[in-house]
Amino acid sequence: THFGFETVAEAIKEQKVRGVFSSVASSYDTMNDLMSVGIHRLWKDYFVRNLNPGQNPLKSSSSSEQGWNILDIAGGTGDIAFRMLDHASTINNDPYTKVTVADINPDMLAEGKRRSLVTPYARSPRLNFVEANAEKLDMIPDSSIDLYTVAFGIRNFTHKDVALREAYRVLKPGGVFACLEFSKVNNTLFNEVYKRWSFGAIPLIGQLVAGDRDSYQYLVESIERFPSQTEFRDMIQDAGFLVPGQGWEDLTGGIAAIHKGVKP
Ligand code: SAM
Repeated sequence: THFGFETVAEAIKEQKVRGVFSSVASSYDTMNDLMSVGIHRLWKDYFVRNLNPGQNPLKSSSSSEQGWNILDIAGGTGDIAFRMLDHASTINNDPYTKVTVADINPDMLAEGKRRSLVTPYARSPRLNFVEANAEKLDMIPDSSIDLYTVAFGIRNFTHKDVALREAYRVLKPGGVFACLEFSKVNNTLFNEVYKRWSFGAIPLIGQLVAGDRDSYQYLVESIERFPSQTEFRDMIQDAGFLVPGQGWEDLTGGIAAIHKGVKP
């Protein structure tokens, strides 16, 4: 607005998201396990297996390049990145694929770096961490990325459309955008149970286990506000991507979904 209220509101939102993730960085696994009853680990395994990092040939790669150049946005504690590198190395025998983990929150990145020390990728050129806002990836050149992943991150972004356009910019032609995110449950009865669980139990568990009701309340509300599968698919198309098939795959009845787009 004329008085800049929107900018103030957005700054407050960004600050709030920062605060939420700073306060949950160390209890992050507990949080995810509680919120998803442990299922987030299976979703992440499936997400990575399905993308099959390191598989050759990749359409977007030129023949001189070896391995995939992956950008994991909102990569936080490295959950997706470590899985990608493990998959490339052990399943595809590919020692070249590399992952850049980008996150807006230095506490989450610090936790990711700490965790990387017990992986084979500690201090390896295959893994690096950058502090960055998904809406402004100035340090990543145009058309340089084979695979852009974002898991449980995009619903926190202030301008999702801007982030999607940045994803489009940094991907090579033929490169893939892949998003794993909470979504809309597609069965009415199951939805009733799910809503009771998320609005009733999760903030309470947050309070009891992490002593932090507000952060968990925020997380539940951010899931509720996130667009439906079709709306989000349309946003991906609006950013210029081609979507394969219907554009998404539901996981566990739509509690989560994987959306994909290909840069033409
Ligand atoms: N991808 C990890 C996973 O699946 O476990 C972390 C997900 S965590 C729920 C969400 C992450 O998004 C946090 O680490 C937060 O700092 C990050 N984030 C929020 N807004 C962001 C933005 N605008 N740009 C980059 N990262 C952001």
